[in-house]
Amino acid sequence: MGAITLKAVEKWFDDVQVIKGVDFDIREGEFVIFVGPSGCGKSTLLRMIGGLEDTSRGQILIDGQDVTDQPPARRGLTMVFQSYALYPHMSVRENMGFSLKTAGAPKAEIDAKVDAAAEVLKLGDYLDRRPKDLSGGQRQRVAIGRSIVREPTAFLFDEPLSNLDAALRVEMRYEIAKLHQKLDTTMIYVTHDQVEAMTLADRIVVLEFGRIAQVGTPRELYENPANLFVAQFIGSPKMNVMPCTTEGGAYHLGGGRGGAYGGARPAVKLGIRPEHIALGPVGSGQIDATIDVAEYLGADTLLVVQLPDAGQATVRVIGDTDLRPGEQVGLEFDATRLSFFDADGLAVPH
Ligand code: ADP
Ligand code: MG
Repeated sequence: MGAITLKAVEKWFDDVQVIKGVDFDIREGEFVIFVGPSGCGKSTLLRMIGGLEDTSRGQILIDGQDVTDQPPARRGLTMVFQSYALYPHMSVRENMGFSLKTAGAPKAEIDAKVDAAAEVLKLGDYLDRRPKDLSGGQRQRVAIGRSIVREPTAFLFDEPLSNLDAALRVEMRYEIAKLHQKLDTTMIYVTHDQVEAMTLADRIVVLEFGRIAQVGTPRELYENPANLFVAQFIGSPKMNVMPCTTEGGAYHLGGGRGGAYGGARPAVKLGIRPEHIALGPVGSGQIDATIDVAEYLGADTLLVVQLPDAGQATVRVIGDTDLRPGEQVGLEFDATRLSFFDADGLAVPH
């Protein structure tokens, strides 16, 4: 249960097309994340799956059944939003059991389901409280609990952690990962935060202007981005990209040297992640650079360096470094970790 198929799905708001033909299969029990910058259509696509938004063209299937024209209540899905939307005058227990009560479930059944959900979410001690007497994280847990008691075919989450402070977000992220392990129910989760996407997802769908830019496991997207957009969206700090030329089995960097190139066609950009550059003496690597800023983060330090062609790059070094602004270094690229892109921004296999 919980297999969801999108077939050539489109969304038009009047004459503006927001979702531009999305084809995608979500497997039973899979944790899928829609990620992308603000306005790319994540919420719209999720709401179309949930039935809160009409589908202009294409089909949505749940477990093989066409639900494209079915109302939300007939789809067996639940949604959790950024705003918790709890009833302020009801206790946690009443909030969590409300949908079952409205559906006419017997009290004993409601109590049993609420207790089970409360145990999973560690809300057992708070069942008699009102929402105003809970922390933000606890309120979000109640909102998730309200979904759990309905035993949905799939959970839909729209940026559920965006209202929480950074520490709580990390804690709730962990809780949601545990929840998925425990329930094994399909989850579709929308976020603009690539760290959330990387840490939670079985598979990530990267959206760009209403189209799928790439689908893959976090590792596939990190190691083999299909295009520049994904390359620079996944990973933090983002992948360094520098102009290059390719000729006769070699690549060349403006103001630098270069190295061997085995690409199937010419490339105009080279990509290398900050963690795949080592520092050596001037003249040692593919290109020389000048240290501009050193950002010490404790576990590692991010060095922002100036390149000869006036571009910048970021280099991640473990721990601290003695290098100071103004010093010259050679950047040594890990040759097994290079990405190349053509003039259209598409990755060139090499
Ligand atoms: P995201 O969740 O990725 O930030 P949305 O799905 O909310 O993006 O929005 C995608 C695009 O659709 C945006 O350009 C937004 O302005 C537009 N949009 C969303 N809802 C409506 C609507 N009801 N009417 C017109 N345009 C809308
Ligand atoms: Mg949104």
